[in-house]
Order: sequence, then structure tokens, then C-alpha cells
Amino acid sequence: KKRIAVMTSGGDSQGMCAAVRAVIRAGIYFGCEMYGCFEGYTGLVEGGEKLRPLEWADVRGWLSEGGTLIGTARCLEFRERAGRLNGAENMVKRGIDALIVCGGDGSLTGADIFRSEWPSLLAELEKTGRITATEHGKYQHLTIVGMVGSIDNDMALTDNTIGAYSSLERICEMVDYIDTTAASHSRAFVVEVMGRHCGWLALMAGICCGADYVFVPEQPPCAKTWRADLQAVCSKHRAAGRRKTTVIVAEGAIDDELNAVTSEEVKQALVELGLDTRVTTLGHVQRGGTAVAFDRMLATMQGVEAVKAALESTPDTPSPMIGIEANQIVRVPLMEAVKQTKAVAKAIDAKDFDAAFKLRDAAFQE
Ligand code: ADP
Repeated sequence: KKRIAVMTSGGDSQGMCAAVRAVIRAGIYFGCEMYGCFEGYTGLVEGGEKLRPLEWADVRGWLSEGGTLIGTARCLEFRERAGRLNGAENMVKRGIDALIVCGGDGSLTGADIFRSEWPSLLAELEKTGRITATEHGKYQHLTIVGMVGSIDNDMALTDNTIGAYSSLERICEMVDYIDTTAASHSRAFVVEVMGRHCGWLALMAGICCGADYVFVPEQPPCAKTWRADLQAVCSKHRAAGRRKTTVIVAEGAIDDELNAVTSEEVKQALVELGLDTRVTTLGHVQRGGTAVAFDRMLATMQGVEAVKAALESTPDTPSPMIGIEANQIVRVPLMEAVKQTKAVAKAIDAKDFDAAFKLRDAAFQE
């Protein structure tokens, strides 16, 4: 029987539990023995109870749970070869040679490094007597399948990541609450949302909440004129009878000279207009709470596909990542997705916005 371990790693997101549940149950359905790897890569490195079998009933009720019940961590040891050696040993000792990782680009990069290093890790383990020649012969290949759990929706080659719509829902609820009091007092609110390099959450929140103005990293405003432009737009809306002002700022927002556009600066510009302005940084409520229906559906369908991909994977094909494109669950090359994601972030860092746009467009169209 094939033994597959499932892990959640990196920043948590709503829907990760649903993904784990789907993987465990699909695996059992297809006749595999399933393992949970607890606390991200720490579970591999430390083994013991942190890498243990999970049964059908162990994930009962997980579909709607928020966060991840098998834990997640930033595991420094796994970045070192010694940590990955431990990981390989713990897997081989349990007869596990497939790993399904639900995380962000960092976690998926780590997984792919682990797979490419696997033959040399096993050779070293045998040489130092930590595994037997028989074990080495039996588990020559490591299968890796990636699933993307991220509230930021920041991965290339997939339209959505698990958690992004739940996070967007949370943001919309919060902005709705804020809007009520903003309208009562005719106030302006600057709402800062998460997303790192990616402005998807901010842009979509702007659309869903009818914001006056949105700042995203992908479309940096002119450093010299954005304040005046913001003031003109907000004044125009006020003059047309709007009683509130809502501005959404992505945490990674920058201007075209690469200075951060901070919520405080945006507030100052609105105060200059004479508006009573408050800043709300939403913070971790954005990652909290239960997964919305879309994320439960995405996680479940992708979890099943991840197990199928693990069972069909061969040593000669690149590790797959499970994505969704135009409403179809798809397999795409994991490292290609990571590469394109990093290229966009790098282009933004290098102020090459045209290139960033083209890369992102291409990534979405593929
Ligand atoms: P995310 O997966 O959300 O992008 P991180 O970048 O923090 O989050 O990665 C999560 C974990 O994945 C790290 O703490 C580390 O254990 C592992 N990891 C990330 N990058 C690598 C790498 N290059 N080599 C080995 N492990 C890595």
C-alpha cells in the first residue's frame, strides 16, 4: 500500500483543514495509508508523534474549520541539509515516499528541493547506517504534489489559491462594519489589507466594498501627484453627495519611485482635505474564521486531484501543483508556477512594472 503524508506549511489560510480532510479521505478511498505531518516541515524533521497515521474519522468536521488543525510552522531546520536528512529518514522508516504540501511558494520550493535531493539524501543515510540498503532500494523516488494555501492569491498558473475568497469575505464584512460608522459621522477610513507583493485582496475588496480609491503594488501611483489625485477623487465623490470616504491600501503598496505608500500618509492626505480620518489595519482577522463555500469546494476538489496526481506521478515528470483555471481543476508544473510567481515579485522590486504586468498576464492566461 502506498503511504502518503500531507502537510500544511507557511502562513495559514482558511480552507487548509478542508484540503487536509480531502487528501486524507481521498487517499483512503484510493487504498492508500495516509499520514499527517504536523507543524509544517517540523513534522518531517522531528518525526515521532508529529508524523503519524490519520484515519477517516480523524478529520471529521474539518471541512468548515478555519486555520489548520495539523499546525503550520516556519521550520528553519528544513532549510539545512541536516534537517532534510532527518526528514528523509523519518519518511523512509515509516515507508512514506509521497508528500502533499499545502502552502505558499516558499513551502513548495522547499518541497521541490527535497525531491531533487532525495537520491543523495538516501545515499548518505545508507552510508551512515541510518537506513538499510533494502529501504534505500524500496524508496528511491520521492513524489511531491503541491497545493496552494494562501490568503494572498499570489501564485502564478492558478486563478485562485485556497483561502483567498475567505479572506476577501472577511475584509468585506469588516469594511461594511466600518462603513456604517463612517457614514454616520461622515468620516474617512483608510483600511490596510494584507497581500504582501500582491494587490488582489485590496483590489477585489475595493470593488466589493465600493471604495473611493485603492492602492496596490502592481499599479504604483506617481510619487509626486498621488496625494492631489486622491484628494480630487474623494472631493468629487463628497461633492456628489457621498457621506463617507473609504480608501483601501494593500500592505505592499508602493509609488512609482518605490517608496512605500503607507496608511498614515494616505490619512494625512485626507486630513489635508479636512476629512475626519481614521486608519484601520485589519491584521490577522483576515486569516481567521471559517472557510467560505468556494474555498471548501476548491480545497476538496483539489485535495482529491492531489491524491490522484500522487498516484500517477512518475520519476521523470516534474512535480505537479494543483491549480484551478477557468473553473477546471488542473495540474501545472510546480516549479514553473513558483518561478513565474517569483519573477513577478522581482520585477516589481526592480521597478519594472511593465514586465511585472506582462508576466502576471501571461501567468494568468497560461
Ligand atoms: P510560504 O510557504 O507561505 O511562502 P515560507 O516562505 O515561510 O512560507 O516557507 C515555509 C517553510 O517552508 C519554511 O519555514 C521552510 O521550512 C520551508 N522552506 C521555504 N523555502 C525553503 C527552501 N528554499 N529550502 C528548504 N525549505 C524551505
